[in-house]
Amino acid sequence: MTPACVFRVALDTPLKRLFDYLGPASGLFAAPITAGMRVRVPFGRQQLVGIVMEVATSTDVPGEKLKPILDVLDAEPVLDASALALLQWAADYYHHPIGEVLSTALPKAMRSGAPAQAREEQWSVTAQGVAAHAVGEPRRAPKQRELLGYLVVAADAGVAAARPADAPAPAGLDSATAADASEAASYAHAGAGGSPVAGRRLTDATRTMLDAPSVRGVSATTLDGAFPKWRETARALAERGWVTSAEVSLADGESRFGVKVQGPELRDEQRAAVEAVGESLGHFGAFVLHGVTGSGKTEVYLRLVERVLQQGRRALVLVPEIGLTPQLVGRFRDRFDTPMAVLHSALTDNERLTAWRGAFSGHARIILGTRSAVFAPVPDLGIVIVDEEHDASFKQHEGGFRYSARDLAVVRAQRADVPILLGSATPALESLQNVAGGRYVRLSMPYRAARAELPRMALIDLRANAEHSGISTPAIQAMQRHLNEDGQVLVFLNRRGYAPTLLCTACGWIAPCQECDARLTVHLSASRLRCHHCGFDTKLPERCLVCGFAVKPVGQGTERIEETLTGFFPGVTLARLDRDVVRRRGDMEEVVRRMSSGEARILVGTQMVTKGHDFPNVTLVVVLNADQGLFSSDFRAPERLAQTIVQVAGRAGRGTRPGEVLIQTEFPGHPLLLSLLSEGYDGFARAALEERQQAAWPPFSRLAAVRDSAKTAEQALEFLAEARKTAGKLPRGVKLLGPVPAAMSKKAGRYHAQLLVEGADRASLHHFLQAWLPVVEQLPSARKVRWALDVDPIELF
Ligand code: ADP
Ligand code: ZN
Ligand code: ZN
Repeated sequence: MTPACVFRVALDTPLKRLFDYLGPASGLFAAPITAGMRVRVPFGRQQLVGIVMEVATSTDVPGEKLKPILDVLDAEPVLDASALALLQWAADYYHHPIGEVLSTALPKAMRSGAPAQAREEQWSVTAQGVAAHAVGEPRRAPKQRELLGYLVVAADAGVAAARPADAPAPAGLDSATAADASEAASYAHAGAGGSPVAGRRLTDATRTMLDAPSVRGVSATTLDGAFPKWRETARALAERGWVTSAEVSLADGESRFGVKVQGPELRDEQRAAVEAVGESLGHFGAFVLHGVTGSGKTEVYLRLVERVLQQGRRALVLVPEIGLTPQLVGRFRDRFDTPMAVLHSALTDNERLTAWRGAFSGHARIILGTRSAVFAPVPDLGIVIVDEEHDASFKQHEGGFRYSARDLAVVRAQRADVPILLGSATPALESLQNVAGGRYVRLSMPYRAARAELPRMALIDLRANAEHSGISTPAIQAMQRHLNEDGQVLVFLNRRGYAPTLLCTACGWIAPCQECDARLTVHLSASRLRCHHCGFDTKLPERCLVCGFAVKPVGQGTERIEETLTGFFPGVTLARLDRDVVRRRGDMEEVVRRMSSGEARILVGTQMVTKGHDFPNVTLVVVLNADQGLFSSDFRAPERLAQTIVQVAGRAGRGTRPGEVLIQTEFPGHPLLLSLLSEGYDGFARAALEERQQAAWPPFSRLAAVRDSAKTAEQALEFLAEARKTAGKLPRGVKLLGPVPAAMSKKAGRYHAQLLVEGADRASLHHFLQAWLPVVEQLPSARKVRWALDVDPIELF
């Protein structure tokens, strides 16, 4: 028997293939099933939700084994042709099962069958109702009068603005969000056991996900929150014809678009950038916006998004991590009067579904998010923007599907035939090499927009200067000077906690992590010893566990630097920014607020301070230790160090006063530091790319890392050694390096190792992987380890 139609379905399994099914039992579904629709299918003894990837007319599966689709979940595709193409491309490029790629792309609730379109019950006032309200009706029913008044207010265009001060806030028009979320809860609930949303106060995050859509009424969920037992009241009003209810699809309402405030007049470089990308609207072009911190990159994004929105198209904006999202969201919201969908990792499943739906329906015109937002549905995509494109968090380097959102964003823009703008003060060397090769166009903005001067950088030789707990005398003196002149100071150290080591001065014992090849970090105020690699956490001992002598913390962490500085500058308020301080939503904002308001004068922080925050009054930046990045086995370490220094330096002197940057180092003669100081990031990048070319590291070659972990070091190495053996004679241009144990071989109780595959170019690497991986997957030793492939790894052991 030859079936008329066979549906090739992607399922969330580790198998790198599609699964064939017959159409559902006839007559059940009128609409044709097309690629991109979700279906429920039998799979072994389970039922799974999958995505139809292809519709075919023949199959290799024998007729009696071919099973029919059980259920079709969508009337229209939830992934359009270009989305499917992107996912397929990603699955091929990263050599990862398509089903697992799909599960990165779709919110969990969508994968368990939630409808793609959000519908909600909305209540609104009728014309008679408005008239009745105007004359004070219904006089003898205060509850009804109140509800009617509420709906009248909500019906006014400027709902939030027109809200009477004493009436319950019509969070009204965030209502779509709440309705969605509670509906979604019923789906997510079955599997996840999450808490239902109905009745819960809307979180700020929920609000930011989908801005007030221009709905005509107020959702039942909002009314639930605002008026206990409102249904009875509403029914009474409905009987008199004063209010009415409807099931509204959120996609129904045309979303508005307006510019709230005009931006400043662009400076020449900004205008040139906007024009260059603007001319590319409507077709693909890749642009690197290389602008120093404060040069006005965000303003360029805003202008381009404005153009795209004016053309009736939509914008996708990717940002590195959630910490930065609120700031950029704020800039977009201040500028545009239009719904935005915001997607980041801290959303609940329901919130994510809501944001996804906002994007899917086309209601949201700006889709802004972190890494996985690169897969968000954006109808009529007009531009892709990646802010801080060099940032490592765009690369998913854990778990199964390891992808680069920045690189996928370029592919996506290419497929959609729209421009992509990669912005950074410190572009990745890869991106600069793409500029050199003519594939990307560089747009430079070397000056600050607000006319502040760039900071002066200088090195402090740690060998020649006395040091007090990590801070040299010249640094202390400079801090004093800047504080005296009313400036603020930022002190950067990439290590949190009090001290990285707990040492016994009698026997030399150092508190180790039992699970990792690592020392435990002292957290003094919490009185804990913690492992920063596996999370191990124990009480801080007072005595050596071996000899019983007193122990002492050795080395510096941000917590200790804060303490030291408090001693040096009594009466000066300090703030600290690291992962120990920032634990909940809002913590980061609080630190930023304390600095911005001038309440805190010194900020001590880790990598977190290098990102995005604008502290106009910071005039001095002290980098406590530049040396970690100088001598690493990872060829990317110098690039990361240079980026960190330039980014942190960019925090200084953004106001009207010029800034000063002091970098403490034991290697003041290191060529990298010298090139950075004398020629800035450009000079550094040139030198670093030359080094990479000589050593044939990326981008002058292509890498993939096979990484594994096992219960013993031998097992971890054995699998990789066997994998290497199966490769046999290597094709031209391909090299295998390793296997070697990871630099931190033991981590979280497991032993880690790595085998590197180096290809002279992309094609040779991928041809090799395509032939080799299926063999590796079949190795019996593969089942004794956990392993994963990381294409274009950004961290090497
Ligand atoms: P970046 O994103 O490159 O760090 P921003 O876009 O945030 O830079 O701009 C830095 C500051 O300069 C902001 O306060 C911004 O409002 C201001 N700014 C940007 N462009 C202009 C301009 N053309 N004229 C005046 N101020 C500007
Ligand atoms: Zn001891
Ligand atoms: Zn550990």
